[in-house]
Amino acid sequence: MASITLDNVVKTYPDGFTAVKGVDLDIADGEFVILVGPSGCGKSTLLRMIVGLEDITDGELRIGDEVVNDKAPRDRDLAMVFQNYALYPHLTVYENIAFPLRLAKGQYTEEQIDERVRNASKLLELDEHLQRKPANLSGGQRQRVAMGRAIVRRAKAFLFDEPLSNLDAKLRGQMRTEIARLQRNLATTTVYVTHDQTEAMTLGDRVAVLRRGELQQVASPRGLYDQP
Ligand code: ADP
Ligand code: ADP
Repeated sequence: MASITLDNVVKTYPDGFTAVKGVDLDIADGEFVILVGPSGCGKSTLLRMIVGLEDITDGELRIGDEVVNDKAPRDRDLAMVFQNYALYPHLTVYENIAFPLRLAKGQYTEEQIDERVRNASKLLELDEHLQRKPANLSGGQRQRVAMGRAIVRRAKAFLFDEPLSNLDAKLRGQMRTEIARLQRNLATTTVYVTHDQTEAMTLGDRVAVLRRGELQQVASPRGLYDQP
């Protein structure tokens, strides 16, 4: 676990377009921050810079005390959960969850992998589905597998990019509760991009509002709601 600090972070794409225009944001260790704003305001760009999938043009990004601007994604030790799940269709639930640990070749014994996968699946109520393939799971179950993969790594932070937007309303409600419970239990630093009002108002400790690449305000969900 660790804090995430953005210090005047800028992103200019190769075509000259500046999508993020000097963002300052301190996310405390264990804090859950929701990032909202209209389509095209730079939410994905910001998340991708934090996780390392996009270069930072200017400014400084720190995880804990360490400046990570030039660090490769795998060395940042963050876990990203995508809205399209990005599961491997040919692998079982068990192997999908174990995958990040197997990727770190030789770092974990078979017993350690097994223990972590089983703990995560219990937490996510997937223990009865470990031998199934993603195609035979519901949307909510697939989403939980994607979260399981983030949990087994015990990453320093979770980054969610609209994780529930492909689910129907009922499932979205269930997953909202699930994510809130998980974050309370794990107390892992979380940045969560959404354009769902309910998620923004109920899930996070703070809501950061981005508009045209600039941070417009950062407030508690209640503080945001009370403003004119
Ligand atoms: P959001 O996630 O809030 O919808 P994005 O971060 O995806 O916004 O995009 C922010 C802005 O940056 C948009 O105007 C988008 O068109 C632009 N953009 C995104 N990726 C690129 C790219 N690779 N090259 C140029 N412009 C981009
Ligand atoms: P989202 O809705 O999740 O922000 P988009 O459909 O806007 O995603 O973008 C999908 C992909 O296309 C992203 O990798 C983004 O960086 C890229 N992209 C978005 N806008 C542009 C653009 N103007 N030029 C080049 N690539 C872009």
